[in-house]
Amino acid sequence: MRFDKTLEIQRAMAIYAHPDDAEFGMAGTVAKWANAGVEFTYCMVTNGASGSQDPEMTRERLRDIRAAEQREAAAILGVKNVVFLGFEDGYLEPTIDVRRAVARQIRIHRPDVIFTMDPTWRYGGGYVNHPDHIAAAEVVLRSINPDASTRQMLPELWQNERLEPHKPKALFLLSFDSPDATVDVSDVVETKIKALLAHRSQIEPESVDFIRGWMREAGKKKGYRYAEAFKVLKLDDDAARAEARRRERTAPRARVRRASRSTTPSRRGRPSRRGRSSG
Ligand SMILES: [Zn+2]
Repeated sequence: MRFDKTLEIQRAMAIYAHPDDAEFGMAGTVAKWANAGVEFTYCMVTNGASGSQDPEMTRERLRDIRAAEQREAAAILGVKNVVFLGFEDGYLEPTIDVRRAVARQIRIHRPDVIFTMDPTWRYGGGYVNHPDHIAAAEVVLRSINPDASTRQMLPELWQNERLEPHKPKALFLLSFDSPDATVDVSDVVETKIKALLAHRSQIEPESVDFIRGWMREAGKKKGYRYAEAFKVLKLDDDAARAEARRRERTAPRARVRRASRSTTPSRRGRPSRRGRSSG
Protein backbone atom coordinates (compact mmCIF):
# COMPACT_ATOMS: atom_id res chain seq x y z
CA MET A 1 0.00 0.00 0.00
CA ARG A 2 1.30 3.42 -0.89
CA PHE A 3 0.88 5.91 1.98
CA ASP A 4 2.39 8.88 0.17
CA LYS A 5 5.01 9.65 -2.48
CA THR A 6 7.91 8.29 -0.44
CA LEU A 7 6.35 5.61 1.73
CA GLU A 8 5.32 2.17 0.47
CA ILE A 9 4.02 -0.12 3.23
CA GLN A 10 3.72 -3.90 3.23
CA ARG A 11 4.14 -4.64 6.92
CA ALA A 12 3.21 -2.54 9.96
CA MET A 13 3.62 -3.12 13.67
CA ALA A 14 1.72 -1.53 16.56
CA ILE A 15 3.67 -1.63 19.82
CA TYR A 16 1.72 -0.61 22.92
CA ALA A 17 1.72 -1.12 26.66
CA HIS A 18 -1.75 -2.64 27.09
CA PRO A 19 -4.35 -4.73 25.32
CA ASP A 20 -6.87 -2.09 24.05
CA ASP A 21 -4.35 0.79 23.57
CA ALA A 22 -4.17 0.20 19.82
CA GLU A 23 -7.97 0.08 19.46
CA PHE A 24 -8.44 3.43 21.19
CA GLY A 25 -5.91 5.30 19.10
CA MET A 26 -5.66 3.67 15.71
CA ALA A 27 -8.07 0.78 15.09
CA GLY A 28 -9.56 2.66 12.12
CA THR A 29 -6.15 2.96 10.50
CA VAL A 30 -5.50 -0.73 11.20
CA ALA A 31 -8.80 -1.80 9.60
CA LYS A 32 -8.27 0.44 6.59
CA TRP A 33 -4.68 -0.59 5.94
CA ALA A 34 -5.37 -4.29 6.59
CA ASN A 35 -8.14 -4.05 3.95
CA ALA A 36 -5.55 -2.58 1.59
CA GLY A 37 -3.27 -5.59 2.13
CA VAL A 38 -0.91 -4.36 4.85
CA GLU A 39 0.21 -7.18 7.15
CA PHE A 40 -0.25 -5.94 10.72
CA THR A 41 1.45 -7.26 13.83
CA TYR A 42 0.33 -6.23 17.30
CA CYS A 43 2.91 -6.32 20.07
CA MET A 44 1.45 -5.81 23.54
CA VAL A 45 4.22 -5.20 26.04
CA THR A 46 2.31 -5.81 29.29
CA ASN A 47 -0.31 -8.38 30.26
CA GLY A 48 -3.06 -5.90 31.20
CA ALA A 49 -3.39 -7.48 34.66
CA SER A 50 -3.87 -4.16 36.52
CA GLY A 51 -6.90 -2.98 34.54
CA SER A 52 -9.70 -3.56 37.05
CA GLN A 53 -11.25 -1.99 40.17
CA ASP A 54 -13.23 -5.16 40.92
CA PRO A 55 -12.18 -6.65 44.30
CA GLU A 56 -13.36 -10.09 43.09
CA MET A 57 -10.99 -10.00 40.12
CA THR A 58 -7.46 -11.44 40.26
CA ARG A 59 -4.45 -10.43 38.19
CA GLU A 60 -4.19 -13.97 36.77
CA ARG A 61 -7.80 -14.07 35.59
CA LEU A 62 -7.66 -10.56 34.15
CA ARG A 63 -4.46 -11.36 32.23
CA ASP A 64 -6.23 -14.23 30.44
CA ILE A 65 -9.42 -12.23 29.85
CA ARG A 66 -7.51 -9.34 28.31
CA ALA A 67 -5.40 -11.53 26.04
CA ALA A 68 -8.60 -13.13 24.71
CA GLU A 69 -10.23 -9.70 24.23
CA GLN A 70 -7.17 -8.43 22.35
CA ARG A 71 -7.15 -11.48 20.07
CA GLU A 72 -10.83 -10.95 19.31
CA ALA A 73 -10.32 -7.23 18.52
CA ALA A 74 -7.34 -8.04 16.31
CA ALA A 75 -9.37 -10.61 14.37
CA ILE A 76 -12.15 -8.05 13.78
CA LEU A 77 -9.60 -5.62 12.33
CA GLY A 78 -7.71 -8.14 10.19
CA VAL A 79 -4.49 -8.07 12.22
CA LYS A 80 -2.35 -11.04 11.23
CA ASN A 81 -0.10 -11.56 14.27
CA VAL A 82 -0.68 -10.76 17.95
CA VAL A 83 2.31 -10.97 20.29
CA PHE A 84 2.10 -10.63 24.08
CA LEU A 85 5.43 -9.93 25.76
CA GLY A 86 3.86 -10.53 29.19
CA PHE A 87 5.54 -7.85 31.30
CA GLU A 88 3.51 -6.85 34.37
CA ASP A 89 0.90 -4.15 33.75
CA GLY A 90 1.60 -1.03 35.80
CA TYR A 91 5.21 -1.94 36.56
CA LEU A 92 6.74 -1.27 33.15
CA GLU A 93 10.14 0.45 32.89
CA PRO A 94 12.35 0.76 29.78
CA THR A 95 14.81 -1.83 31.12
CA ILE A 96 17.23 -3.69 28.91
CA ASP A 97 15.05 -6.84 29.22
CA VAL A 98 12.01 -5.01 27.84
CA ARG A 99 14.17 -3.37 25.16
CA ARG A 100 15.56 -6.74 24.07
CA ALA A 101 12.08 -8.29 23.94
CA VAL A 102 10.74 -5.46 21.74
CA ALA A 103 13.84 -5.37 19.52
CA ARG A 104 13.50 -9.14 19.03
CA GLN A 105 9.93 -8.75 17.72
CA ILE A 106 10.92 -5.91 15.37
CA ARG A 107 13.77 -8.03 13.98
CA ILE A 108 11.42 -11.01 13.54
CA HIS A 109 8.51 -9.14 11.87
CA ARG A 110 10.58 -6.46 10.04
CA PRO A 111 7.86 -3.79 9.75
CA ASP A 112 8.03 -0.91 7.27
CA VAL A 113 6.15 1.24 9.79
CA ILE A 114 5.91 1.13 13.59
CA PHE A 115 3.07 2.74 15.55
CA THR A 116 3.23 3.71 19.21
CA MET A 117 2.24 6.54 21.56
CA ASP A 118 4.16 9.79 21.94
CA PRO A 119 6.52 9.29 24.92
CA THR A 120 6.79 13.05 25.50
CA TRP A 121 3.06 13.36 26.28
CA ARG A 122 2.62 13.17 30.06
CA TYR A 123 -0.60 15.00 30.92
CA GLY A 124 -3.34 17.24 29.55
CA GLY A 125 -7.09 17.53 29.14
CA GLY A 126 -7.73 16.41 32.72
CA TYR A 127 -5.78 13.20 32.19
CA VAL A 128 -2.42 11.97 33.47
CA ASN A 129 -0.89 9.58 30.95
CA HIS A 130 -0.26 6.06 32.24
CA PRO A 131 3.46 5.51 32.93
CA ASP A 132 3.34 2.20 31.03
CA HIS A 133 2.31 4.13 27.89
CA ILE A 134 5.33 6.41 28.29
CA ALA A 135 7.67 3.49 29.05
CA ALA A 136 6.48 1.39 26.08
CA ALA A 137 6.81 4.36 23.72
CA GLU A 138 10.27 5.11 25.12
CA VAL A 139 11.29 1.51 24.44
CA VAL A 140 10.06 1.84 20.84
CA LEU A 141 12.16 4.97 20.31
CA ARG A 142 15.18 3.15 21.72
CA SER A 143 14.46 0.21 19.41
CA ILE A 144 14.83 2.46 16.40
CA ASN A 145 18.13 3.77 17.67
CA PRO A 146 19.93 1.58 18.64
CA ASP A 147 18.25 -1.64 19.83
CA ALA A 148 16.68 -3.14 16.69
CA SER A 149 18.75 -1.32 14.07
CA THR A 150 22.36 -1.61 15.18
CA ARG A 151 24.41 -4.74 14.71
CA GLN A 152 26.62 -4.48 17.75
CA MET A 153 23.71 -3.56 20.04
CA LEU A 154 22.24 -6.70 21.67
CA PRO A 155 24.55 -8.83 19.45
CA GLU A 156 23.07 -12.00 20.98
CA LEU A 157 19.99 -11.41 18.82
CA TRP A 158 21.87 -12.13 15.60
CA GLN A 159 24.61 -14.29 17.04
CA ASN A 160 22.30 -16.70 18.91
CA GLU A 161 18.91 -16.18 17.26
CA ARG A 162 19.90 -15.19 13.70
CA LEU A 163 17.83 -12.01 13.91
CA GLU A 164 19.40 -9.41 11.66
CA PRO A 165 19.18 -5.68 12.52
CA HIS A 166 16.13 -3.86 11.17
CA LYS A 167 15.13 -0.22 10.92
CA PRO A 168 11.59 0.69 9.79
CA LYS A 169 10.98 3.33 7.12
CA ALA A 170 8.80 5.43 9.41
CA LEU A 171 7.53 5.85 12.95
CA PHE A 172 3.93 6.92 13.55
CA LEU A 173 3.15 8.42 16.98
CA LEU A 174 -0.45 8.89 18.11
CA SER A 175 -0.99 12.62 18.25
CA PHE A 176 -3.75 14.81 19.64
CA ASP A 177 -2.14 18.09 18.72
CA SER A 178 -0.28 19.24 15.58
CA PRO A 179 -0.32 15.93 13.67
CA ASP A 180 1.61 15.44 10.39
CA ALA A 181 -0.86 12.90 9.02
CA THR A 182 -4.61 12.54 9.32
CA VAL A 183 -6.07 9.22 8.21
CA ASP A 184 -9.71 9.30 7.06
CA VAL A 185 -11.36 6.38 8.86
CA SER A 186 -14.99 7.31 8.14
CA ASP A 187 -15.58 4.11 6.14
CA VAL A 188 -14.32 1.81 8.88
CA VAL A 189 -15.56 3.59 11.99
CA GLU A 190 -18.09 0.88 12.84
CA THR A 191 -15.37 -1.78 12.58
CA LYS A 192 -13.27 0.26 15.00
CA ILE A 193 -16.17 0.53 17.46
CA LYS A 194 -16.78 -3.22 17.21
CA ALA A 195 -13.08 -3.91 17.94
CA LEU A 196 -13.13 -1.49 20.89
CA LEU A 197 -16.20 -3.20 22.33
CA ALA A 198 -14.39 -6.55 22.21
CA HIS A 199 -12.53 -5.18 25.26
CA ARG A 200 -15.56 -5.95 27.44
CA SER A 201 -13.56 -5.80 30.69
CA GLN A 202 -12.48 -2.25 29.87
CA ILE A 203 -15.17 -0.36 28.01
CA GLU A 204 -18.96 0.02 28.25
CA PRO A 205 -21.00 0.40 25.07
CA GLU A 206 -22.13 3.86 26.28
CA SER A 207 -18.57 5.16 26.43
CA VAL A 208 -17.82 4.84 22.73
CA ASP A 209 -19.44 8.24 22.15
CA PHE A 210 -16.43 10.09 23.50
CA ILE A 211 -14.19 8.15 21.12
CA ARG A 212 -16.42 9.12 18.19
CA GLY A 213 -16.03 12.69 19.47
CA TRP A 214 -12.21 12.46 19.36
CA MET A 215 -12.33 11.08 15.84
CA ARG A 216 -14.70 13.82 14.65
CA GLU A 217 -12.38 16.43 16.19
CA ALA A 218 -9.33 14.83 14.50
CA GLY A 219 -11.05 14.96 11.11
CA LYS A 220 -12.37 18.53 11.30
CA LYS A 221 -9.43 20.31 9.66
CA LYS A 222 -9.41 17.99 6.65
CA GLY A 223 -13.18 17.73 6.37
CA TYR A 224 -13.24 14.01 7.24
CA ARG A 225 -16.20 12.72 9.20
CA TYR A 226 -13.95 10.53 11.38
CA ALA A 227 -10.16 10.48 11.49
CA GLU A 228 -7.11 9.34 13.41
CA ALA A 229 -4.04 11.58 13.63
CA PHE A 230 -0.34 10.88 13.87
CA LYS A 231 3.03 12.54 14.05
CA VAL A 232 5.11 10.87 11.33
CA LEU A 233 8.87 10.51 11.46
CA LYS A 234 10.42 9.26 8.20
CA LEU A 235 13.49 7.15 8.93
CA ASP A 236 14.36 5.85 5.49
CA ASP A 237 17.19 8.06 4.23
CA ASP A 238 15.83 8.59 0.72
CA ALA A 239 12.29 9.19 1.97
CA ALA A 240 13.48 11.60 4.67
CA ARG A 241 15.48 13.62 2.12
CA ALA A 242 12.54 13.73 -0.29
CA GLU A 243 10.25 14.83 2.53
CA ALA A 244 12.68 17.59 3.58
CA ARG A 245 12.86 18.82 -0.04
CA ARG A 246 9.06 18.82 -0.26
CA ARG A 247 8.79 20.86 2.95
CA GLU A 248 11.38 23.34 1.72
CA ARG A 249 9.38 23.80 -1.45
CA THR A 250 6.03 24.21 0.27
CA ALA A 251 7.36 26.53 3.03
CA PRO A 252 10.22 28.45 1.37
CA ARG A 253 10.41 31.18 3.97
CA ALA A 254 10.03 28.95 6.98
CA ARG A 255 13.10 27.72 8.79
CA VAL A 256 13.26 24.08 7.78
CA ARG A 257 15.07 21.40 9.66
CA ARG A 258 17.36 19.29 7.52
CA ALA A 259 16.66 15.61 7.16
CA SER A 260 18.05 13.79 10.16
CA ARG A 261 21.07 11.60 9.70
CA SER A 262 20.67 7.88 9.58
CA THR A 263 20.43 6.23 12.97
CA THR A 264 22.92 3.68 11.72
CA PRO A 265 25.81 5.56 10.11
CA SER A 266 26.91 3.96 6.86
CA ARG A 267 30.51 3.58 8.01
CA ARG A 268 29.27 0.55 9.93
CA GLY A 269 28.64 -0.99 6.55
CA ARG A 270 25.36 -2.64 7.45
CA PRO A 271 23.80 -4.04 4.29
CA SER A 272 20.07 -3.50 3.95
CA ARG A 273 18.03 -6.66 3.47
CA ARG A 274 15.12 -4.72 2.11
CA GLY A 275 14.93 -4.05 -1.63
CA ARG A 276 14.27 -0.40 -2.33
CA SER A 277 12.01 -1.04 -5.29
CA SER A 278 9.66 -3.47 -3.56
CA GLY A 279 9.03 -1.03 -0.65
ZN1 LIG B 1 -3.24 1.67 28.17
